Amino acid sequence: MTLEIKPVADRILEGGAITLPEAQQLIAFETWPQVLELAAHATRIRERFTGNEVDLCSLVNAKSGNCPEDCKYCAQSSHWNTDIPTYPLMDPDQMVERAKQAKAFGAKRFCIVTATRGLADKDLPVVCETIRRVKEEAGIIPECSMGFLKKEQLLALKEAGMTRYNHNLETAESHFPEVCTAHTYQDRLNTIRMLKANGVEACCGGILGVGESRQERLDLAFALAELDVECAPINVLNARPGTPLSGNQAPTPLEVIKTIAVFRFILPRTRLELGGGREVNLRDFQVMAFLAGANSLIIGGYLTTNGRQPDQDLQMLKDLGFAI
Ligand code: SF4
Repeated sequence: MTLEIKPVADRILEGGAITLPEAQQLIAFETWPQVLELAAHATRIRERFTGNEVDLCSLVNAKSGNCPEDCKYCAQSSHWNTDIPTYPLMDPDQMVERAKQAKAFGAKRFCIVTATRGLADKDLPVVCETIRRVKEEAGIIPECSMGFLKKEQLLALKEAGMTRYNHNLETAESHFPEVCTAHTYQDRLNTIRMLKANGVEACCGGILGVGESRQERLDLAFALAELDVECAPINVLNARPGTPLSGNQAPTPLEVIKTIAVFRFILPRTRLELGGGREVNLRDFQVMAFLAGANSLIIGGYLTTNGRQPDQDLQMLKDLGFAI
């Protein structure tokens, strides 16, 4: 018998939770009529818990390429032969300028990202200065994504004005060794727990299309719920030439939209952020992600690939009735 969606959604609206067997039935949906009904209830949940505000986040690739880690989807790993520009950490002026541009095209948050295993001690003062200046001079909320942190580094970034840090789990624990062997899922969990324990919000999500099963997508979502992350970016593989996953078949729009809706059921209060890979994988279905529970967007391009024009995204969100 097919699971009735409304009673599950009603329970979540009353403060309850979805069970794993229920989520397994939802993620097994194969048709658009089923997914559209699921999306409608995901939208009820999103509206109840997070209203109609949407978060817009812009990224700067502040240090590109030559990363010693071996994430198989990533063009910035030194292990793969990819053709991307590489450069050391930008200086604060360059990063502040990029933050001002992000603010001008409508971003609310600005994430300083480095292709590193962790933050080098010598770079800490530069990053702290940049965080302060991004806040004061650009008037935008600074965030960072720099890999593993020592506790004293985290506290210094927090002191400088960083309130949220990005550190994705990427995929389920069972699938993680297929995606990366240079560090472990547990290493990532430890970092996220350290953020939360020290009063820094966690931006933590994953990437779809890296060979994971539907069950492993659910495992990721339930892990994020247990960690109580504030924001969960959902990226979809944009297979980069030269990486081991360059031949991977990306999930279909139906599969991605359904997954976002199921994530909304599992993470009713979390910002679900549509991230990299949306243009190439969702194409005309990008708008559907926001009718299936998404309420945050990476805008203005990604780390090694371009996105569509911010104006197009802003118009889409305005047409959907979101407050920007
Ligand atoms: S995803 Fe991050 S840690 Fe992994 S290779 Fe790319 S830049 Fe390095």
